Amino acid sequence: MVNVPEIFGSKVFNDEAMRQRLPKDVYKALQKTIKEGRQLDLDMANVVAEAMKNWAIENGATHFTHWFQPMTGVTAEKHDSFISPTDDGKVLMEFSGKELVKGEPDASSFPSGGLRATFEARGYTAWDPTSYAFIKGDTLCIPTAFCSYSGEALDKKTPLLRSMQALDKQAVRVLRLFGDTETKRVITTVGPEQEYFLIDEDVYRKRPDLLYTGRTLFGNKPPKGQELDDHYFGQIKPRVKEFMKDLDNELWKLGILAKTEHNEVAPAQHELAPIFTTTNIATDHNQLTMELMKTVAKKHHMHCLLHEKPFDGVNGSGKHNNWSLSTDTGKNLLEPGDTPSQNAQFLLFLTAVIEAVDRYQGLLRYSVASAGNDHRLGANEAPPAIISVYVGDELDNVIKSIIDGTDYTDKSKKMMSIGASVLPHIPQDTTDRNRTSPFAFTGNKFEFRSLGSNASIASPNIVLNTIVAEVLSEYADKLEKATDFDSALSDLVRRHLTDHKRIIFEGNGYSEDWVKEAEKRGLRNLPSTVEATEAFIEPESIEVFTKNKVYTETEISARYEISLENYYKQINIEAQTLSDMTKDEIIGAALRYEEFLANTINDMKSTGTGIPTRVEEKLLQQAADMVEVLYDRLQKLDADIAKEDDMDDVKELASYNRYTILPDMDSLREVIDELESRVPHELWPYPTYGELLYSVQ
Ligand code: ADP
Ligand code: MG
Repeated sequence: MVNVPEIFGSKVFNDEAMRQRLPKDVYKALQKTIKEGRQLDLDMANVVAEAMKNWAIENGATHFTHWFQPMTGVTAEKHDSFISPTDDGKVLMEFSGKELVKGEPDASSFPSGGLRATFEARGYTAWDPTSYAFIKGDTLCIPTAFCSYSGEALDKKTPLLRSMQALDKQAVRVLRLFGDTETKRVITTVGPEQEYFLIDEDVYRKRPDLLYTGRTLFGNKPPKGQELDDHYFGQIKPRVKEFMKDLDNELWKLGILAKTEHNEVAPAQHELAPIFTTTNIATDHNQLTMELMKTVAKKHHMHCLLHEKPFDGVNGSGKHNNWSLSTDTGKNLLEPGDTPSQNAQFLLFLTAVIEAVDRYQGLLRYSVASAGNDHRLGANEAPPAIISVYVGDELDNVIKSIIDGTDYTDKSKKMMSIGASVLPHIPQDTTDRNRTSPFAFTGNKFEFRSLGSNASIASPNIVLNTIVAEVLSEYADKLEKATDFDSALSDLVRRHLTDHKRIIFEGNGYSEDWVKEAEKRGLRNLPSTVEATEAFIEPESIEVFTKNKVYTETEISARYEISLENYYKQINIEAQTLSDMTKDEIIGAALRYEEFLANTINDMKSTGTGIPTRVEEKLLQQAADMVEVLYDRLQKLDADIAKEDDMDDVKELASYNRYTILPDMDSLREVIDELESRVPHELWPYPTYGELLYSVQ
């Protein structure tokens, strides 16, 4: 039996470890630095590094690394050992303050969208003291930001921290207007629910498409899919249970608040939800969670698939980004309060989020766009590609009455300062939750549901924090100047809700009608990463990021390039893999099937009994037809892939892969799937969906 409280955070150099191991004055100074987000001075860093090193060595570490999140989305680390040679041929274990606060990874192979070429050849990593150092395996990991020498962010952490600062600044301005003098900081909190698939390692190894691209490129739906819904919240298989137990232990050691683990809708699909925490830490933790899911699965001879759509026709995997704002005094700003004034403050924040989502729909869509997630969004299982906000019946009525001014007339009701009647207590009940909405208010937080399972949660949170900061800053600008706060507030809320009510949609987001209705309302429908990425470089997008000091223009153009590059490269790898698998095994299997039928026909004829071979011949004819189609479609795919050699513009390449290569792959897949259903199982070279999805018992 593990003692959870004892192991929890045991591999983290957290507040408790710091308090125990640092001299009192250094501990206090470090706390202050962390709270105020300032740089650590070198003397202090030396003391912290020494204590950190001793702690790490006692806990089995021999190496250290600056752990960072380059723009690829995965985390990167370069391990250095603590050893330092001494005169007598021995070694000491050393780790200096300089090594703690700053590192210089040879990171020339990380994508920089040309950033480092234009500025400095090398980037450096800097410790983010708001994130605790931790031990993974034999390595002390120091969470760091990654920048170029001229200060351009080369990672996801830096802009995330900047966006949190932007939101902090504007939210505090707003709170002051409501007479809050206590709050020093406002932070954003996130609890990301993570979906994933587990399959047996043996079947995984037999599918090159899973190995190289993370998803199956062909395969028919198994007869028993998710139709029966018996997997959802169903009994967890013993092997999976062992895995979850192990995973929880590893996560707890790293101080990650893994809370619930359950089965998801599709067979072999599961979910892990942590307890929410500060966005910055939640982002680090989600990266670690994804990494540990893979390594722990390996130990159990399974493979964890984090791709958004590993199996066509089967539910895909996403992440629900539960997001809220909290004061340093622990108040959740999206919690409707009990008093009229708290209600009014809540409504102002709510209005700001609604307005932000409406004005920056394109950016939110962009923030969740990827080759993998394109297979989910709008595909009738995941939120549509159209961004809208769901607020629930009760709040919807409140908003309507504010817009119509109906509450003004009802004098018998107790009034809020903004002229609407006091909000009913909004129950944190989940019954009327609209699962089809991409962005839903769920009682005291918003749940952004469009995220892909594989991506870092940094991007969507950078966007969310920034756009809400922008709207709050505009509100604060107006309200700070108002002579009569109450009437200015009431006027502002009414006007802005009226202007942005089109984004509120309470109906079924999966329906065709909504697509039409959304178009009528003028909402954006950006079907794929190609279109969504363009939204990132629109003038309003650049303005909102630069004004709030989250991205510079150069950083935006670098990220724009990288998004499109990642996108087309992903599809290119898929296309090559599909082509190779077709040539390596599938054509062969089809030919063996023809041979088998031809032999059968010959054998039957040679009996001289005159038994008709009508059906066998028909099957052979059909097989021959399919082989022809297979061959032609493969030729077309190969020819189209070859054309890419002449293209060098990322936008052109992205669009070409989306609108030429993907359809080529789909049409080739169509005939492969047909063949799979015809060819006898023992002649089929790859594990089927059934064998993959039911590989773990
Ligand atoms: P569900 O019914 O979707 O499971 P929960 O209330 O259990 O809803 O919460 C789901 C996720 O939302 C959890 O990760 C939880 O920690 C997170 N969450 C709850 N409150 C907040 C908040 N104030 N800010 C951010 N995330 C939150
Ligand atoms: Mg949820």
